[in-house]
Amino acid sequence: MAEVIMNGVNASSNMCKDLTNRCEALREKGVVPCLAILRVGSKPEDISYERSAEKRCTSVGIEVKNIVFPDNACEQELISKICQLNADDTVHGVLILLPLPPSINERSVCEALSPEKDVDGISSGSMASVYLGSGPGYTPCTAQAVMELLKYYNIPIAGKHAVVVGRSLVVGRPVSMLLMGENASVTICHSKTENLADICRSAQIVVAAAGHINSITADCLSPGQTVVDVGINFDDKTQKTLGDVDFEAAEPIVYAISPVPRGVGSVTTSVLAAHVTEAAERSLIQGGF
Ligand code: NAD
Repeated sequence: MAEVIMNGVNASSNMCKDLTNRCEALREKGVVPCLAILRVGSKPEDISYERSAEKRCTSVGIEVKNIVFPDNACEQELISKICQLNADDTVHGVLILLPLPPSINERSVCEALSPEKDVDGISSGSMASVYLGSGPGYTPCTAQAVMELLKYYNIPIAGKHAVVVGRSLVVGRPVSMLLMGENASVTICHSKTENLADICRSAQIVVAAAGHINSITADCLSPGQTVVDVGINFDDKTQKTLGDVDFEAAEPIVYAISPVPRGVGSVTTSVLAAHVTEAAERSLIQGGF
């Protein structure tokens, strides 16, 4: 049996206590931390994420502005709105719900967002900050949520071998950089990797972000490992949300494992709230109050 079940709800409430104090301090100085959420269309998964982001942010004292465009909105309309938000001193962070409809050039829209307000790390300015280890942008929230979970449960990272399964710009690549920033030796695996099970078994930390149910099975795991499951996959058979890891098979083998739900996903919106708070704090310094 795993010694540690890495519960994201516990890690998240720990973060929220600190954020509530920081938002209160900002309000006392006349700054109301504010997040604008920009959504195109009405996809149920977008609405669901928007609701949980809004709930988390308001719970710590962040104001939320919801901006909704119809499905047929054009790229230029979105870019104009983003430029307006970039220039609006009362808005500290902007969350654009992705993916955008296929008719829109998503990269152009992401690039329009100023890195200072890019609280989910979607612009290349933010990505550069992740790779450089410093800069004006923010780390993608999910990648940082993985690190917050490891930190909350005191999992040693420095000097360890970490395997990240997935190489997307939102999860796999940034989480690899963050682990390396904490002095792990990182192997990135993906859909074309040969001997995935052997590589995963050799690691002390496995981060699963492949986006497929049971892509990490018992043969990928070994005793003493820490397994962070980033996957959020809807299973038509059981009508449940499942991770990438076969939890039932993994839990008796490894040292620590994060469940789905109540794992990484529960920390992601708190990281978002932390980024908005930080952006508001930075604005105070830049405003010279
Ligand atoms: P993606 O589809 O963009 O990338 C998946 C990556 O996994 C790709 O690099 C691909 O090469 C690799 N991959 C796919 N199948 C594989 C396999 N069988 N073996 C090895 N590698 C494989 O997905 P994403 O946006 O990075 O998301 C990954 C998962 O994380 C999804 O389940 C998504 O729903 C979830 N997610 C969770 C959160 C959260 O807050 N917890 C946020 C974003 C994404």
